[in-house]
Amino acid sequence: MPGFEVFGEEEKRQALEVFDTGVLFRYEFGPQRKGVYKVREFEQAFAQYTGAAHAQAVTSGTAALKVALSALGVGIGDEVITQGFTFVATWEAILDVGAVPVFTEVDQTLNMNPADLEKKITPKTKAIIPVHMLGAQARIKEIKAIADKHGIPVLEDTAQAAGGRLHGQHLGTFGHCGTFSFDAVKTMTTGEGGMVITNDEELWRCCSEYHDHGHDHVVNPGGRGGEGRRFIGFNYRMMEIQGAIGLAQLAKLDMIVAEQRKNKAILKEAASKLAGVSFREILDEQGDSATFLAFMLPDKAQAAKVNQVLRENNAGAINFGENTWHFYPSWEHLLGGKTLAENGWPFNAHGKRRVIYDPAALPASCELMNRTLVYQIPVKLDESRRDVILTALKKAEAV
Ligand SMILES: *Cc1c(COP(=O)(O)O)cnc(C)c1O
Repeated sequence: MPGFEVFGEEEKRQALEVFDTGVLFRYEFGPQRKGVYKVREFEQAFAQYTGAAHAQAVTSGTAALKVALSALGVGIGDEVITQGFTFVATWEAILDVGAVPVFTEVDQTLNMNPADLEKKITPKTKAIIPVHMLGAQARIKEIKAIADKHGIPVLEDTAQAAGGRLHGQHLGTFGHCGTFSFDAVKTMTTGEGGMVITNDEELWRCCSEYHDHGHDHVVNPGGRGGEGRRFIGFNYRMMEIQGAIGLAQLAKLDMIVAEQRKNKAILKEAASKLAGVSFREILDEQGDSATFLAFMLPDKAQAAKVNQVLRENNAGAINFGENTWHFYPSWEHLLGGKTLAENGWPFNAHGKRRVIYDPAALPASCELMNRTLVYQIPVKLDESRRDVILTALKKAEAV
C-alpha cells in the first residue's frame, strides 16, 4: 500500500523546484513562477496515466468525494448508496452534502454486492458509490449496468486502488467519475491530497469551479479578481508542493504495484496451506494493485484461532470485524447519530430524526468480515520479515 516506503530523492527534487520559485499557490503569480505549475502538471499526468479525459486535484480523498458529489448535484433529500465495508470518509462526504447514506452488503469481492444494490435503489437514489477496497476491483461493470438501467450516476471511490485495473482499464474510469486519495498511507502519497477523474467535461468544470470558491478560471484582463462565478463553492485547492510530490510518486506507481504483486504471491502461497482457507474473489488478478491479501477461514472461531497463532508469532493479521474504522457495525458515531450540531444535523432535520441505522442491518457482511483475515502487502518485504510471516503461517496450518 504505502508510497511512503519509496519516498526519496525524486520527491525531494520535485519539491525543490517549487521552493526555487517560492510560489506555493496553484494559480496566478505568472512571472514569479517561471513556468512551474506542479498541480496542473500532476493533473495532466494523472489523467493520462488513468486514461481519463480530465483530472481535478483537491486537498484529500474525502474532499474529492465531496467535490464529486457536489458536481453530480447531490443534496438534501437525496440518498446515496455505498457499501458497509469502506473507510468512514465515504459516508462522511455523503452526509456533508446533505444526503443520506444507504449501505449495501459486500460479497466475496469484499466490495458492493450488486444484487443488494438493486434492492436498495429508491426514487431518492441520486448516486451510487462502489468502493474498490483493499486495492481490488468492485463488480464495477455489473454495478454500472444496474445504475444505467435506473439512470443513476456512479462515483467510484478508488482511494485504496490507485494503479488498479479491470481487464486493462483503470479503476475510477468506469463510472461517471472516480476519486482517489493520496493520504499518508495510500499506494501513492502526497501527505494529504486527492483527485477526481472523469471523461465528462462539464462534470470536471463543475469540480474545478466548486473546489475553488466557484471561480470559473476564464482568462480575463482582471486576472483572478475578474473571474466569474456560476455557483457557490468552497476551498479544496491542492498546494504546489503536493502536486510536485504527486508527480514523483505517480512515476513510481507501476513499480510499487509490481513489487507488491511479487510479495503478495509469496504470502498467498503460504496462506493457501491453512486448513479450510479460501481467498477473496479477485475479478482480474492482472489488475489487482496487490496492496492487501485477504483470506477467509470457515468461520469466525477458526479465524480467531488462526489469528491468535499468527499474533503469537509476530505476524498478526487484520480482522475487519474487529477494526473500528472500516466496517458498519463499528461506526458508533454513525449508528448513534453523534454530531456537533446542536439541532442534530445531519441525522435530524426540522426537529425529527431523518435516518436511523440498525447495527444488525448487514448480516451477510458480518458473517464474511468476521472470518476474513487481511495482511497489508509492503512494497519492500525484507527477508527477515518475510520469514517471520511464513513461519507464523506454517505454525497456523495445524490449527
Ligand atoms: C483513505 C480513504 C478515503 C479518504 O481519503 P483521505 O485522503 O484520507 O481524505 C476515502 N475512501 C476510502 C475508501 C479511503 O480508504
